[in-house]
Amino acid sequence: MKLYAPTYYKQFKCIADKCEHSCCIGWEIDVDGETLAKYNALKDGYGAVIADSISMEDTPHFRLCAGDRCPHLDDRGLCKIILRVGEDYLCDICREHPRFYNFTSVAEVGLGMSCPEAARLILSSPDFSSTEEIGEVDAEDDGVEFDGRAARGNIYTILQDTACGYASALEKIRSDYSIDFGDDKRYLEILDSMEYLDADHKALLLKYSSKRRPEGAEQNAYLKRFLAYLIYRHCTEALDADDFGIRLAFCLFCEGLLASLICSEDAKTLGEVAALASIVSEEIEYSDDNTTALMQAGE
Ligand code: SF4
Repeated sequence: MKLYAPTYYKQFKCIADKCEHSCCIGWEIDVDGETLAKYNALKDGYGAVIADSISMEDTPHFRLCAGDRCPHLDDRGLCKIILRVGEDYLCDICREHPRFYNFTSVAEVGLGMSCPEAARLILSSPDFSSTEEIGEVDAEDDGVEFDGRAARGNIYTILQDTACGYASALEKIRSDYSIDFGDDKRYLEILDSMEYLDADHKALLLKYSSKRRPEGAEQNAYLKRFLAYLIYRHCTEALDADDFGIRLAFCLFCEGLLASLICSEDAKTLGEVAALASIVSEEIEYSDDNTTALMQAGE
């Protein structure tokens, strides 16, 4: 099956030790079976250290150290598995992060916004609608009749209509798909009851108010690209038109949440907005429970 990616995708490069928010801190990384077998075959040297660092409780995973750091993250912020035994020994999650995949009649890959470097790249790339073929993957057509890519394309057309400002585009999308968020109370209750990776983020996300939106052109350009990213990630695999609408409502809520935070935190620059987008992404998109709770609110 052909694999497609947004045109900005190839520009992404992990900045490793220069990253202000390493993905090697805070997340318990599961080790896939194939990589586990490779680790177990490394009998001495750093191989033994790797084997010792894995907890077999539930799904095999790296046991986090003080400060919730990956045991293989060195003081310079570099990965000791890469340094000592080579990149081929990274487990699937570490090798793929921050990438995600959609499987429909084709395969698509994207970059997850929780990575601050990916967030800066996505929010600074005006062409959010074009994809290009970058290879092949071993996968089969999902057999779903509904064409989520075409439905996504319709929304991108509205977002790219230069005769219509961003606020009007949002209004048109909400009206075309009958999306009405009602008052904020229901969403604030969900934001209050969610699980958080960082307790400080809860107070930040609870600043949500659908009435607060920035007016600056730059900030709105970032918001439009954020929404386009969310739609690419969450709407493409929709099973039917109803499912597409539910997913779209979730994307619009997350966009509104970022708009709110841009105002409350007075974020103006690409770096400031990307940092907030990263937080929204890691606290919501990277938790199935949080994503499901917010999607159900839009049903
Ligand atoms: S968050 Fe992104 S840039 Fe930072 S270490 Fe992880 S992949 Fe690299």
